[in-house]
Amino acid sequence: MPASFDAITKKPASPDRLPNLQDYSNLVATFDLAQARRFVDGLPGGGLNIAHEAVDRHVQAGRGDKIALRWLGKSGEAREYSYRQLMTDSNRFAAVLSHLGIGRGERVFSLCGRLPALYTAVLGTLKNGSVFSPLFAAFGPEPVRSRMEIGEARLLVTTRSLYRKKVAPWRDELSSLEQVLLIDADDNLPDGCLSLTELMREADPDHPVATTQPDDMALLHFTSGTTGRPKGAIHVHEAVVFHTLTGHYALDLHPDDSYWCTADPGWVTGTSYGIIAPLSLGVTLVVDEAEFDAERWYHILEQQQITVWYTAPTAIRMLMKAGADLAKQHDLSALRFLASVGEPLNPEAVVWGNETFGKPFHDNWWQTETGGIMIANYAAETVKPGSMGRPLPGVKAAIVRRAEDGTVTEITRPGDVGELALQPGWPSMFRGYLHEQARYDKCFAGGWYLSGDLASRDGDGYYWFVGRADDVIKSAGHLIGPFEVESALLEHPGVAEAAVIGIPDEVAGESIKAFIALKPGFSPSDDLRREIQGLARKRLGAAVAPKAIDFRDNLPKTRSGKIMRRLLKARELGLPEGDISTLESDEK
Ligand code: ATP
Ligand code: MG
Repeated sequence: MPASFDAITKKPASPDRLPNLQDYSNLVATFDLAQARRFVDGLPGGGLNIAHEAVDRHVQAGRGDKIALRWLGKSGEAREYSYRQLMTDSNRFAAVLSHLGIGRGERVFSLCGRLPALYTAVLGTLKNGSVFSPLFAAFGPEPVRSRMEIGEARLLVTTRSLYRKKVAPWRDELSSLEQVLLIDADDNLPDGCLSLTELMREADPDHPVATTQPDDMALLHFTSGTTGRPKGAIHVHEAVVFHTLTGHYALDLHPDDSYWCTADPGWVTGTSYGIIAPLSLGVTLVVDEAEFDAERWYHILEQQQITVWYTAPTAIRMLMKAGADLAKQHDLSALRFLASVGEPLNPEAVVWGNETFGKPFHDNWWQTETGGIMIANYAAETVKPGSMGRPLPGVKAAIVRRAEDGTVTEITRPGDVGELALQPGWPSMFRGYLHEQARYDKCFAGGWYLSGDLASRDGDGYYWFVGRADDVIKSAGHLIGPFEVESALLEHPGVAEAAVIGIPDEVAGESIKAFIALKPGFSPSDDLRREIQGLARKRLGAAVAPKAIDFRDNLPKTRSGKIMRRLLKARELGLPEGDISTLESDEK
Protein backbone atom coordinates (compact mmCIF):
# COMPACT_ATOMS: atom_id res chain seq x y z
CA MET A 1 0.00 0.00 0.00
CA PRO A 2 0.95 3.66 -0.30
CA ALA A 3 4.52 4.16 0.80
CA SER A 4 3.94 7.88 1.14
CA PHE A 5 2.03 7.35 4.38
CA ASP A 6 4.30 6.56 7.28
CA ALA A 7 3.21 4.30 10.09
CA ILE A 8 2.02 6.24 13.14
CA THR A 9 3.67 4.97 16.30
CA LYS A 10 2.09 5.74 19.65
CA LYS A 11 3.64 7.66 22.50
CA PRO A 12 3.69 5.78 25.82
CA ALA A 13 0.30 6.23 27.51
CA SER A 14 0.07 8.12 30.77
CA PRO A 15 0.16 5.75 33.77
CA ASP A 16 -3.24 6.92 35.02
CA ARG A 17 -4.91 5.98 31.74
CA LEU A 18 -3.33 2.82 30.43
CA PRO A 19 -4.92 1.29 27.33
CA ASN A 20 -6.89 -1.90 27.94
CA LEU A 21 -4.76 -3.69 25.40
CA GLN A 22 -1.12 -2.91 26.01
CA ASP A 23 0.74 -5.67 24.27
CA TYR A 24 -1.09 -7.12 21.29
CA SER A 25 1.26 -9.97 20.44
CA ASN A 26 1.41 -11.19 23.98
CA LEU A 27 -2.36 -11.10 24.52
CA VAL A 28 -3.12 -12.85 21.25
CA ALA A 29 -0.63 -15.58 21.98
CA THR A 30 -2.21 -16.40 25.33
CA PHE A 31 -5.90 -15.61 24.77
CA ASP A 32 -8.58 -18.18 24.16
CA LEU A 33 -12.27 -17.51 23.71
CA ALA A 34 -13.22 -19.39 26.86
CA GLN A 35 -11.75 -16.44 28.76
CA ALA A 36 -14.16 -14.07 27.06
CA ARG A 37 -17.00 -15.11 29.38
CA ARG A 38 -15.32 -13.11 32.15
CA PHE A 39 -16.62 -9.96 30.43
CA VAL A 40 -20.19 -10.77 31.46
CA ASP A 41 -21.93 -11.82 34.69
CA GLY A 42 -24.83 -13.91 33.45
CA LEU A 43 -28.29 -13.77 34.99
CA PRO A 44 -28.32 -14.31 38.76
CA GLY A 45 -30.27 -17.58 38.46
CA GLY A 46 -28.47 -18.80 35.31
CA GLY A 47 -28.87 -17.84 31.66
CA LEU A 48 -27.64 -14.78 29.79
CA ASN A 49 -29.50 -11.65 28.74
CA ILE A 50 -27.97 -8.73 26.87
CA ALA A 51 -30.04 -6.12 28.71
CA HIS A 52 -29.07 -7.47 32.10
CA GLU A 53 -25.40 -7.11 31.19
CA ALA A 54 -25.96 -3.67 29.69
CA VAL A 55 -27.97 -2.18 32.51
CA ASP A 56 -29.12 -4.16 35.54
CA ARG A 57 -25.77 -5.51 36.61
CA HIS A 58 -24.46 -1.97 37.08
CA VAL A 59 -27.37 -1.07 39.32
CA GLN A 60 -26.94 -4.25 41.33
CA ALA A 61 -23.26 -3.39 41.77
CA GLY A 62 -24.14 0.01 43.25
CA ARG A 63 -23.60 2.12 40.14
CA GLY A 64 -27.26 2.93 39.55
CA ASP A 65 -26.84 6.69 39.80
CA LYS A 66 -24.26 6.87 37.07
CA ILE A 67 -25.44 8.55 33.85
CA ALA A 68 -25.94 5.85 31.24
CA LEU A 69 -27.37 7.94 28.44
CA ARG A 70 -27.15 11.61 27.68
CA TRP A 71 -29.59 12.42 24.91
CA LEU A 72 -29.18 15.57 22.82
CA GLY A 73 -32.35 16.59 21.01
CA LYS A 74 -32.44 18.17 17.57
CA SER A 75 -33.50 21.53 18.88
CA GLY A 76 -31.02 21.87 21.69
CA GLU A 77 -32.72 20.13 24.61
CA ALA A 78 -30.79 17.51 26.59
CA ARG A 79 -31.97 14.67 28.84
CA GLU A 80 -30.03 12.38 31.11
CA TYR A 81 -30.88 8.81 32.11
CA SER A 82 -29.10 7.03 34.94
CA TYR A 83 -28.48 3.30 34.81
CA ARG A 84 -31.26 2.93 37.40
CA GLN A 85 -33.71 4.87 35.26
CA LEU A 86 -32.80 2.82 32.18
CA MET A 87 -33.35 -0.31 34.24
CA THR A 88 -36.83 0.64 35.42
CA ASP A 89 -37.84 2.06 32.03
CA SER A 90 -36.75 -1.10 30.23
CA ASN A 91 -38.47 -3.24 32.88
CA ARG A 92 -41.65 -1.29 32.18
CA PHE A 93 -41.27 -1.82 28.45
CA ALA A 94 -40.81 -5.56 29.00
CA ALA A 95 -43.95 -5.53 31.14
CA VAL A 96 -45.85 -3.75 28.35
CA LEU A 97 -44.82 -6.44 25.87
CA SER A 98 -45.75 -9.19 28.26
CA HIS A 99 -49.12 -7.55 28.96
CA LEU A 100 -49.79 -7.32 25.21
CA GLY A 101 -48.98 -11.00 24.77
CA ILE A 102 -45.71 -10.58 22.86
CA GLY A 103 -43.79 -13.76 23.61
CA ARG A 104 -40.25 -15.08 23.65
CA GLY A 105 -38.59 -15.10 20.24
CA GLU A 106 -41.29 -12.89 18.70
CA ARG A 107 -40.17 -9.88 16.75
CA VAL A 108 -40.49 -6.28 17.88
CA PHE A 109 -39.57 -3.65 15.30
CA SER A 110 -38.79 0.02 15.71
CA LEU A 111 -39.13 2.75 13.15
CA CYS A 112 -38.03 6.02 14.67
CA GLY A 113 -35.14 8.43 14.99
CA ARG A 114 -32.63 8.34 17.82
CA LEU A 115 -35.19 9.01 20.55
CA PRO A 116 -34.81 7.90 24.18
CA ALA A 117 -37.81 5.58 23.74
CA LEU A 118 -35.85 3.61 21.15
CA TYR A 119 -33.16 2.75 23.69
CA THR A 120 -35.75 1.70 26.26
CA ALA A 121 -37.51 -0.40 23.64
CA VAL A 122 -34.35 -2.29 22.61
CA LEU A 123 -33.47 -3.13 26.21
CA GLY A 124 -37.04 -3.90 27.25
CA THR A 125 -37.57 -6.20 24.27
CA LEU A 126 -34.44 -8.15 25.17
CA LYS A 127 -35.59 -8.36 28.78
CA ASN A 128 -38.87 -9.87 27.60
CA GLY A 129 -36.97 -12.51 25.65
CA SER A 130 -38.35 -11.12 22.40
CA VAL A 131 -36.26 -10.19 19.37
CA PHE A 132 -35.52 -6.61 18.39
CA SER A 133 -35.18 -5.39 14.82
CA PRO A 134 -34.44 -1.68 14.36
CA LEU A 135 -35.26 0.11 11.10
CA PHE A 136 -33.98 3.43 9.79
CA ALA A 137 -36.54 6.17 10.21
CA ALA A 138 -35.67 7.39 6.72
CA PHE A 139 -36.65 4.17 4.94
CA GLY A 140 -39.58 4.51 2.57
CA PRO A 141 -42.83 2.54 3.10
CA GLU A 142 -41.75 -0.37 0.90
CA PRO A 143 -38.43 -1.18 2.63
CA VAL A 144 -40.22 -0.89 5.97
CA ARG A 145 -42.97 -3.25 4.87
CA SER A 146 -40.67 -5.84 3.30
CA ARG A 147 -38.39 -6.05 6.32
CA MET A 148 -41.31 -6.36 8.72
CA GLU A 149 -42.79 -9.03 6.51
CA ILE A 150 -39.55 -11.05 6.42
CA GLY A 151 -39.24 -10.64 10.20
CA GLU A 152 -42.93 -11.48 10.85
CA ALA A 153 -43.21 -8.38 13.02
CA ARG A 154 -45.66 -8.70 15.91
CA LEU A 155 -45.22 -5.24 17.33
CA LEU A 156 -43.91 -1.92 16.05
CA VAL A 157 -42.71 1.09 18.02
CA THR A 158 -42.89 4.28 15.98
CA THR A 159 -44.05 7.87 15.90
CA ARG A 160 -47.33 9.36 14.69
CA SER A 161 -45.98 10.85 11.52
CA LEU A 162 -43.85 7.86 10.55
CA TYR A 163 -46.83 5.59 11.14
CA ARG A 164 -49.10 7.72 8.96
CA LYS A 165 -46.60 7.98 6.08
CA LYS A 166 -44.85 4.65 6.11
CA VAL A 167 -46.99 2.03 7.81
CA ALA A 168 -50.67 2.94 7.67
CA PRO A 169 -50.86 2.57 3.85
CA TRP A 170 -50.12 -1.18 4.01
CA ARG A 171 -50.84 -2.07 7.64
CA ASP A 172 -53.82 -4.29 6.78
CA GLU A 173 -51.70 -6.45 4.49
CA LEU A 174 -49.35 -7.57 7.25
CA SER A 175 -51.39 -9.95 9.33
CA SER A 176 -48.56 -10.76 11.78
CA LEU A 177 -48.48 -7.14 12.99
CA GLU A 178 -50.78 -7.03 16.00
CA GLN A 179 -49.69 -3.95 17.90
CA VAL A 180 -48.37 -0.53 17.04
CA LEU A 181 -47.13 1.64 19.92
CA LEU A 182 -46.83 5.35 19.26
CA ILE A 183 -44.08 7.16 21.14
CA ASP A 184 -45.73 10.58 20.76
CA ALA A 185 -49.41 9.58 20.79
CA ASP A 186 -51.96 12.34 21.40
CA ASP A 187 -55.73 12.21 21.92
CA ASN A 188 -56.29 11.28 18.28
CA LEU A 189 -54.99 7.73 18.31
CA PRO A 190 -55.22 6.17 14.86
CA ASP A 191 -57.13 2.88 14.67
CA GLY A 192 -55.07 -0.06 15.84
CA CYS A 193 -52.48 2.02 17.68
CA LEU A 194 -51.74 2.39 21.37
CA SER A 195 -50.00 5.09 23.36
CA LEU A 196 -46.59 3.95 24.57
CA THR A 197 -46.51 6.61 27.29
CA GLU A 198 -49.87 5.49 28.69
CA LEU A 199 -48.86 1.84 28.72
CA MET A 200 -45.49 2.60 30.30
CA ARG A 201 -47.12 4.64 33.05
CA GLU A 202 -49.19 1.67 34.15
CA ALA A 203 -46.43 -0.92 33.75
CA ASP A 204 -44.43 -2.62 36.52
CA PRO A 205 -41.00 -1.02 37.02
CA ASP A 206 -39.81 -4.23 38.70
CA HIS A 207 -40.92 -6.61 35.98
CA PRO A 208 -38.46 -9.56 36.04
CA VAL A 209 -36.02 -10.28 33.24
CA ALA A 210 -36.78 -13.39 31.17
CA THR A 211 -34.34 -16.26 31.69
CA THR A 212 -32.88 -16.23 28.20
CA GLN A 213 -30.09 -18.60 27.21
CA PRO A 214 -26.90 -17.69 25.31
CA ASP A 215 -28.18 -19.18 22.04
CA ASP A 216 -31.61 -17.53 22.14
CA MET A 217 -32.27 -15.15 19.29
CA ALA A 218 -32.01 -11.52 20.43
CA LEU A 219 -31.55 -9.22 17.44
CA LEU A 220 -32.48 -9.28 13.78
CA HIS A 221 -30.31 -6.91 11.76
CA PHE A 222 -30.76 -6.24 8.10
CA THR A 223 -27.51 -5.69 6.17
CA SER A 224 -26.85 -2.38 4.44
CA GLY A 225 -27.83 -3.56 0.97
CA THR A 226 -24.63 -2.24 -0.59
CA THR A 227 -24.18 -5.25 -2.82
CA GLY A 228 -27.79 -6.30 -3.35
CA ARG A 229 -30.94 -7.34 -1.53
CA PRO A 230 -30.50 -6.89 2.24
CA LYS A 231 -30.36 -10.01 4.37
CA GLY A 232 -31.82 -10.42 7.87
CA ALA A 233 -28.93 -11.56 10.06
CA ILE A 234 -29.87 -13.38 13.26
CA HIS A 235 -27.94 -12.61 16.45
CA VAL A 236 -28.21 -14.22 19.87
CA HIS A 237 -27.81 -13.12 23.50
CA GLU A 238 -24.31 -14.58 23.67
CA ALA A 239 -23.21 -11.76 21.33
CA VAL A 240 -22.96 -9.51 24.38
CA VAL A 241 -19.81 -11.37 25.42
CA PHE A 242 -18.05 -10.24 22.30
CA HIS A 243 -19.60 -6.76 22.21
CA THR A 244 -18.16 -6.20 25.65
CA LEU A 245 -14.77 -7.73 24.87
CA THR A 246 -14.36 -5.68 21.69
CA GLY A 247 -15.58 -2.49 23.35
CA HIS A 248 -12.85 -3.08 25.92
CA TYR A 249 -9.98 -4.01 23.59
CA ALA A 250 -10.80 -2.40 20.23
CA LEU A 251 -12.52 0.80 21.39
CA ASP A 252 -10.49 1.02 24.59
CA LEU A 253 -13.58 1.94 26.63
CA HIS A 254 -13.00 2.72 30.31
CA PRO A 255 -15.87 3.21 32.80
CA ASP A 256 -15.33 6.98 33.09
CA ASP A 257 -15.45 7.58 29.34
CA SER A 258 -17.86 9.92 27.66
CA TYR A 259 -18.49 7.98 24.48
CA TRP A 260 -20.14 8.91 21.20
CA CYS A 261 -20.98 6.42 18.47
CA THR A 262 -22.40 8.36 15.55
CA ALA A 263 -24.06 5.35 13.88
CA ASP A 264 -27.83 5.00 13.89
CA PRO A 265 -29.24 1.92 15.66
CA GLY A 266 -30.94 1.21 12.31
CA TRP A 267 -27.80 -0.67 11.40
CA VAL A 268 -25.66 -2.99 13.39
CA THR A 269 -22.94 -0.54 14.56
CA GLY A 270 -25.57 1.64 16.18
CA THR A 271 -26.76 -1.31 18.27
CA SER A 272 -23.61 -3.33 18.99
CA TYR A 273 -21.52 -0.23 19.72
CA GLY A 274 -24.18 2.48 19.99
CA ILE A 275 -26.02 0.67 22.81
CA ILE A 276 -24.80 -2.72 24.01
CA ALA A 277 -20.98 -2.55 24.29
CA PRO A 278 -20.74 0.88 25.95
CA LEU A 279 -23.55 0.21 28.42
CA SER A 280 -22.19 -3.20 29.26
CA LEU A 281 -18.87 -1.51 30.05
CA GLY A 282 -20.66 1.07 32.21
CA VAL A 283 -19.71 4.21 30.30
CA THR A 284 -21.78 7.32 29.65
CA LEU A 285 -23.24 7.13 26.19
CA VAL A 286 -23.96 10.34 24.27
CA VAL A 287 -26.71 10.14 21.65
CA ASP A 288 -27.40 12.93 19.20
CA GLU A 289 -30.82 12.97 17.58
CA ALA A 290 -29.77 15.26 14.73
CA GLU A 291 -28.18 14.38 11.41
CA PHE A 292 -24.61 15.19 10.42
CA ASP A 293 -23.53 18.79 10.63
CA ALA A 294 -19.82 19.58 10.94
CA GLU A 295 -20.25 22.56 13.26
CA ARG A 296 -22.73 20.71 15.48
CA TRP A 297 -20.46 17.67 15.69
CA TYR A 298 -17.44 19.67 16.82
CA HIS A 299 -19.65 21.44 19.33
CA ILE A 300 -20.79 18.08 20.75
CA LEU A 301 -17.25 16.73 20.92
CA GLU A 302 -16.20 19.81 22.86
CA GLN A 303 -19.22 20.39 25.06
CA GLN A 304 -19.77 16.74 25.98
CA GLN A 305 -16.05 16.24 26.57
CA ILE A 306 -16.16 13.16 24.39
CA THR A 307 -13.22 10.87 25.12
CA VAL A 308 -13.93 8.00 22.74
CA TRP A 309 -15.52 8.67 19.37
CA TYR A 310 -16.62 5.96 16.95
CA THR A 311 -17.62 7.18 13.52
CA ALA A 312 -17.44 6.32 9.81
CA PRO A 313 -15.38 7.22 6.74
CA THR A 314 -18.18 9.15 5.04
CA ALA A 315 -18.54 11.42 8.06
CA ILE A 316 -14.78 11.84 8.33
CA ARG A 317 -14.57 12.80 4.65
CA MET A 318 -17.34 15.35 5.22
CA LEU A 319 -15.39 16.81 8.14
CA MET A 320 -12.31 16.96 5.92
CA LYS A 321 -14.42 18.77 3.33
CA ALA A 322 -15.47 21.32 5.96
CA GLY A 323 -11.78 21.96 6.66
CA ALA A 324 -9.43 21.55 9.61
CA ASP A 325 -9.87 25.22 10.59
CA LEU A 326 -13.36 24.51 11.85
CA ALA A 327 -12.00 21.74 14.08
CA LYS A 328 -9.28 24.02 15.39
CA GLN A 329 -11.90 26.51 16.64
CA HIS A 330 -12.94 23.96 19.27
CA ASP A 331 -11.21 22.59 22.32
CA LEU A 332 -11.10 18.89 21.54
CA SER A 333 -8.43 18.02 24.07
CA ALA A 334 -10.68 15.53 25.91
CA LEU A 335 -10.61 13.19 22.89
CA ARG A 336 -8.49 10.15 23.62
CA PHE A 337 -9.44 7.50 21.07
CA LEU A 338 -10.92 7.86 17.58
CA ALA A 339 -12.23 4.91 15.61
CA SER A 340 -13.92 4.32 12.27
CA VAL A 341 -15.88 1.55 10.60
CA GLY A 342 -18.22 0.75 7.74
CA GLU A 343 -16.18 1.47 4.66
CA PRO A 344 -12.53 1.52 3.77
CA LEU A 345 -10.84 4.41 5.53
CA ASN A 346 -8.51 6.11 3.11
CA PRO A 347 -4.97 6.66 4.46
CA GLU A 348 -5.43 10.36 3.71
CA ALA A 349 -8.23 10.44 6.32
CA VAL A 350 -6.12 8.71 8.97
CA VAL A 351 -3.32 11.20 8.47
CA TRP A 352 -5.76 14.13 8.43
CA GLY A 353 -7.12 12.95 11.79
CA ASN A 354 -3.63 12.77 13.19
CA GLU A 355 -2.86 16.30 12.06
CA THR A 356 -6.20 17.77 13.08
CA PHE A 357 -6.87 16.03 16.40
CA GLY A 358 -3.34 15.01 17.31
CA LYS A 359 -4.36 11.35 17.08
CA PRO A 360 -5.23 9.10 14.18
CA PHE A 361 -8.54 7.43 13.40
CA HIS A 362 -8.28 3.75 14.21
CA ASP A 363 -9.91 1.84 11.40
CA ASN A 364 -11.65 -1.41 12.18
CA TRP A 365 -13.44 -3.97 10.07
CA TRP A 366 -16.51 -6.07 10.63
CA GLN A 367 -19.92 -6.83 9.14
CA THR A 368 -23.54 -7.22 10.14
CA GLU A 369 -22.86 -10.95 10.00
CA THR A 370 -19.92 -10.87 12.43
CA GLY A 371 -21.97 -8.89 14.99
CA GLY A 372 -18.82 -7.31 16.41
CA ILE A 373 -15.40 -5.96 15.49
CA MET A 374 -13.12 -8.61 13.99
CA ILE A 375 -10.04 -6.66 12.88
CA ALA A 376 -8.86 -3.42 14.46
CA ASN A 377 -6.16 -0.90 15.10
CA TYR A 378 -5.49 -0.61 18.82
CA ALA A 379 -4.82 2.27 21.19
CA ALA A 380 -1.30 1.24 22.13
CA GLU A 381 -0.26 -0.19 18.76
CA THR A 382 1.23 1.34 15.63
CA VAL A 383 -1.33 2.46 13.04
CA LYS A 384 -0.49 1.91 9.41
CA PRO A 385 -2.68 4.38 7.50
CA GLY A 386 -4.88 2.48 5.06
CA SER A 387 -4.78 -0.80 7.01
CA MET A 388 -7.76 -2.22 8.91
CA GLY A 389 -5.38 -3.50 11.59
CA ARG A 390 -5.08 -6.95 13.14
CA PRO A 391 -7.61 -9.56 14.36
CA LEU A 392 -9.11 -9.26 17.83
CA PRO A 393 -7.91 -11.64 20.51
CA GLY A 394 -9.87 -14.86 20.00
CA VAL A 395 -10.47 -14.23 16.29
CA LYS A 396 -8.64 -16.29 13.70
CA ALA A 397 -8.61 -14.54 10.34
CA ALA A 398 -7.02 -15.63 7.07
CA ILE A 399 -6.69 -14.74 3.43
CA VAL A 400 -8.01 -17.60 1.34
CA ARG A 401 -8.71 -18.63 -2.21
CA ARG A 402 -11.99 -20.39 -3.00
CA ALA A 403 -11.76 -22.72 -5.99
CA GLU A 404 -14.64 -23.48 -8.35
CA ASP A 405 -15.10 -26.90 -6.71
CA GLY A 406 -15.57 -25.27 -3.30
CA THR A 407 -12.18 -26.11 -1.82
CA VAL A 408 -10.60 -23.35 0.19
CA THR A 409 -6.86 -22.84 0.54
CA GLU A 410 -5.12 -20.38 2.79
CA ILE A 411 -2.81 -17.84 1.18
CA THR A 412 0.10 -17.18 3.47
CA ARG A 413 2.45 -15.11 1.34
CA PRO A 414 2.40 -11.50 2.58
CA GLY A 415 0.73 -9.09 0.17
CA ASP A 416 -1.14 -11.70 -1.87
CA VAL A 417 -4.80 -10.85 -2.37
CA GLY A 418 -7.61 -13.26 -1.56
CA GLU A 419 -10.91 -13.44 0.27
CA LEU A 420 -10.96 -12.44 3.91
CA ALA A 421 -12.09 -15.45 5.93
CA LEU A 422 -12.75 -16.05 9.63
CA GLN A 423 -12.81 -19.21 11.66
CA PRO A 424 -16.36 -19.58 13.01
CA GLY A 425 -16.94 -19.69 16.73
CA TRP A 426 -16.77 -16.16 18.09
CA PRO A 427 -19.81 -15.39 20.28
CA SER A 428 -21.36 -12.58 18.22
CA MET A 429 -21.35 -14.54 14.99
CA PHE A 430 -24.67 -14.52 13.13
CA ARG A 431 -26.65 -17.73 13.37
CA GLY A 432 -28.50 -17.47 10.09
CA TYR A 433 -30.16 -15.24 7.53
CA LEU A 434 -33.82 -15.41 8.49
CA HIS A 435 -35.67 -17.73 6.09
CA GLU A 436 -32.62 -17.99 3.81
CA GLN A 437 -30.78 -21.13 4.76
CA ALA A 438 -29.12 -21.59 1.35
CA ARG A 439 -27.75 -18.05 1.35
CA TYR A 440 -26.36 -18.67 4.84
CA ASP A 441 -24.82 -22.02 3.90
CA LYS A 442 -23.03 -20.39 0.98
CA CYS A 443 -21.03 -18.23 3.42
CA PHE A 444 -19.16 -21.27 4.75
CA ALA A 445 -16.64 -23.57 3.10
CA GLY A 446 -13.68 -25.63 4.23
CA GLY A 447 -14.23 -24.71 7.88
CA TRP A 448 -14.19 -20.94 7.18
CA TYR A 449 -16.72 -18.15 7.17
CA LEU A 450 -16.10 -16.31 3.89
CA SER A 451 -16.70 -12.59 4.14
CA GLY A 452 -17.08 -11.65 0.47
CA ASP A 453 -14.40 -8.97 0.90
CA LEU A 454 -10.96 -9.15 -0.69
CA ALA A 455 -7.90 -8.22 1.31
CA SER A 456 -4.24 -8.98 1.84
CA ARG A 457 -2.09 -9.36 4.95
CA ASP A 458 1.38 -7.93 5.34
CA GLY A 459 4.40 -9.43 7.06
CA ASP A 460 3.44 -7.80 10.38
CA GLY A 461 -0.01 -9.40 10.33
CA TYR A 462 -1.88 -6.18 9.38
CA TYR A 463 -4.84 -6.60 7.00
CA TRP A 464 -5.37 -4.35 3.99
CA PHE A 465 -8.78 -4.00 2.35
CA VAL A 466 -8.82 -4.34 -1.43
CA GLY A 467 -12.54 -4.21 -2.25
CA ARG A 468 -15.69 -6.23 -2.12
CA ALA A 469 -15.40 -9.27 -4.34
CA ASP A 470 -18.28 -7.84 -6.44
CA ASP A 471 -16.55 -4.48 -6.93
CA VAL A 472 -13.12 -5.68 -8.00
CA ILE A 473 -12.10 -4.61 -11.49
CA LYS A 474 -10.25 -6.84 -13.93
CA SER A 475 -8.27 -4.70 -16.34
CA ALA A 476 -5.55 -5.87 -18.74
CA GLY A 477 -4.79 -8.89 -16.61
CA HIS A 478 -4.63 -6.86 -13.37
CA LEU A 479 -7.01 -7.34 -10.49
CA ILE A 480 -7.70 -3.82 -9.28
CA GLY A 481 -9.30 -2.99 -5.96
CA PRO A 482 -11.38 0.21 -6.03
CA PHE A 483 -10.09 1.26 -2.60
CA GLU A 484 -6.51 1.76 -3.78
CA VAL A 485 -7.58 3.89 -6.75
CA GLU A 486 -10.06 5.93 -4.70
CA SER A 487 -7.44 6.58 -2.02
CA ALA A 488 -5.02 7.91 -4.63
CA LEU A 489 -7.73 10.20 -6.04
CA LEU A 490 -8.44 11.50 -2.55
CA GLU A 491 -4.88 12.74 -2.29
CA HIS A 492 -5.79 15.56 -4.70
CA PRO A 493 -6.71 18.60 -2.59
CA GLY A 494 -9.92 19.18 -4.53
CA VAL A 495 -11.35 15.67 -4.18
CA ALA A 496 -13.87 15.16 -1.37
CA GLU A 497 -15.17 11.73 -2.37
CA ALA A 498 -14.37 9.20 -5.06
CA ALA A 499 -15.84 5.93 -6.31
CA VAL A 500 -14.45 3.82 -9.12
CA ILE A 501 -16.05 1.09 -11.18
CA GLY A 502 -15.01 -1.13 -14.06
CA ILE A 503 -16.72 -0.60 -17.39
CA PRO A 504 -16.44 -3.01 -20.33
CA ASP A 505 -13.48 -2.29 -22.58
CA GLU A 506 -12.76 -4.19 -25.79
CA VAL A 507 -9.02 -4.22 -25.29
CA ALA A 508 -8.49 -4.36 -21.54
CA GLY A 509 -11.59 -6.35 -20.56
CA GLU A 510 -12.56 -3.58 -18.16
CA SER A 511 -11.37 -0.01 -17.89
CA ILE A 512 -11.63 2.17 -14.83
CA LYS A 513 -14.06 4.99 -14.51
CA ALA A 514 -14.06 7.33 -11.51
CA PHE A 515 -16.89 9.40 -10.07
CA ILE A 516 -15.73 12.34 -8.04
CA ALA A 517 -17.39 14.85 -5.73
CA LEU A 518 -15.35 18.01 -5.24
CA LYS A 519 -14.59 20.07 -2.16
CA PRO A 520 -16.00 23.60 -1.85
CA GLY A 521 -13.92 26.04 -3.89
CA PHE A 522 -13.33 23.56 -6.74
CA SER A 523 -15.48 23.26 -9.81
CA PRO A 524 -15.52 20.67 -12.56
CA SER A 525 -13.37 21.42 -15.60
CA ASP A 526 -11.32 19.57 -18.18
CA ASP A 527 -8.16 21.01 -16.66
CA LEU A 528 -9.07 19.68 -13.23
CA ARG A 529 -9.93 16.30 -14.73
CA ARG A 530 -6.52 16.13 -16.43
CA GLU A 531 -4.78 17.21 -13.25
CA ILE A 532 -6.48 14.51 -11.17
CA GLN A 533 -5.80 11.90 -13.84
CA GLY A 534 -2.15 12.97 -13.92
CA LEU A 535 -1.84 12.55 -10.17
CA ALA A 536 -3.51 9.13 -10.32
CA ARG A 537 -1.15 8.00 -13.10
CA LYS A 538 1.84 9.10 -11.07
CA ARG A 539 0.62 7.30 -7.94
CA LEU A 540 -0.79 4.16 -9.55
CA GLY A 541 0.70 3.80 -13.02
CA ALA A 542 -1.14 4.16 -16.31
CA ALA A 543 -2.72 0.69 -16.20
CA VAL A 544 -4.53 1.32 -12.91
CA ALA A 545 -5.33 5.06 -13.16
CA PRO A 546 -8.90 5.90 -14.23
CA LYS A 547 -9.38 6.39 -17.95
CA ALA A 548 -12.48 8.48 -17.40
CA ILE A 549 -13.65 10.82 -14.66
CA ASP A 550 -17.18 12.11 -14.09
CA PHE A 551 -17.84 14.90 -11.60
CA ARG A 552 -20.93 14.54 -9.40
CA ASP A 553 -22.37 16.73 -6.63
CA ASN A 554 -22.92 13.63 -4.51
CA LEU A 555 -22.24 9.93 -4.79
CA PRO A 556 -25.09 7.46 -4.20
CA LYS A 557 -24.86 5.98 -0.71
CA THR A 558 -26.71 3.60 1.51
CA ARG A 559 -28.45 4.92 4.61
CA SER A 560 -25.49 3.59 6.59
CA GLY A 561 -23.17 5.81 4.55
CA LYS A 562 -21.64 3.37 2.08
CA ILE A 563 -20.94 4.32 -1.50
CA MET A 564 -23.07 2.14 -3.81
CA ARG A 565 -20.65 1.33 -6.59
CA ARG A 566 -23.04 -1.24 -8.03
CA LEU A 567 -25.60 1.51 -8.59
CA LEU A 568 -23.08 3.78 -10.33
CA LYS A 569 -22.22 0.85 -12.54
CA ALA A 570 -25.81 -0.12 -13.30
CA ARG A 571 -26.64 3.47 -14.22
CA GLU A 572 -23.50 3.82 -16.31
CA LEU A 573 -24.27 0.66 -18.26
CA GLY A 574 -28.03 1.15 -18.41
CA LEU A 575 -28.66 -2.02 -16.39
CA PRO A 576 -31.46 -2.63 -13.86
CA GLU A 577 -30.74 -0.82 -10.61
CA GLY A 578 -31.57 -3.81 -8.40
CA ASP A 579 -32.59 -3.37 -4.77
CA ILE A 580 -32.27 0.30 -3.85
CA SER A 581 -34.30 0.13 -0.66
CA THR A 582 -31.38 1.41 1.41
CA LEU A 583 -30.37 4.23 -0.93
CA GLU A 584 -30.34 7.65 0.70
CA SER A 585 -33.63 9.22 -0.35
CA ASP A 586 -32.15 12.36 -1.91
CA GLU A 587 -30.45 10.12 -4.45
CA LYS A 588 -33.64 8.42 -5.61
P1 ATP B 1 -24.85 -6.01 1.95
O1 ATP B 1 -24.20 -7.21 2.59
O2 ATP B 1 -26.33 -6.02 2.08
O3 ATP B 1 -24.37 -5.71 0.58
P2 ATP B 1 -23.05 -4.38 3.50
O4 ATP B 1 -22.07 -5.48 3.29
O5 ATP B 1 -22.61 -3.00 3.17
O6 ATP B 1 -24.42 -4.70 2.80
P3 ATP B 1 -22.73 -4.22 6.33
O7 ATP B 1 -22.74 -5.50 7.06
O8 ATP B 1 -23.33 -3.03 6.98
O9 ATP B 1 -23.52 -4.41 5.01
O10 ATP B 1 -21.26 -3.81 5.96
C1 ATP B 1 -20.16 -4.68 6.04
C2 ATP B 1 -19.22 -4.40 4.90
O11 ATP B 1 -18.74 -3.04 4.97
C3 ATP B 1 -17.97 -5.23 4.90
O12 ATP B 1 -18.18 -6.50 4.32
C4 ATP B 1 -17.02 -4.38 4.09
O13 ATP B 1 -17.22 -4.54 2.70
C5 ATP B 1 -17.41 -2.97 4.51
N1 ATP B 1 -16.54 -2.52 5.60
C6 ATP B 1 -16.84 -2.40 6.90
N2 ATP B 1 -15.80 -1.91 7.60
C7 ATP B 1 -14.80 -1.75 6.72
C8 ATP B 1 -13.45 -1.28 6.82
N3 ATP B 1 -12.94 -0.89 7.97
N4 ATP B 1 -12.71 -1.25 5.70
C9 ATP B 1 -13.24 -1.65 4.53
N5 ATP B 1 -14.50 -2.08 4.37
C10 ATP B 1 -15.27 -2.13 5.44
MG1 MG C 1 -22.33 -7.53 3.28
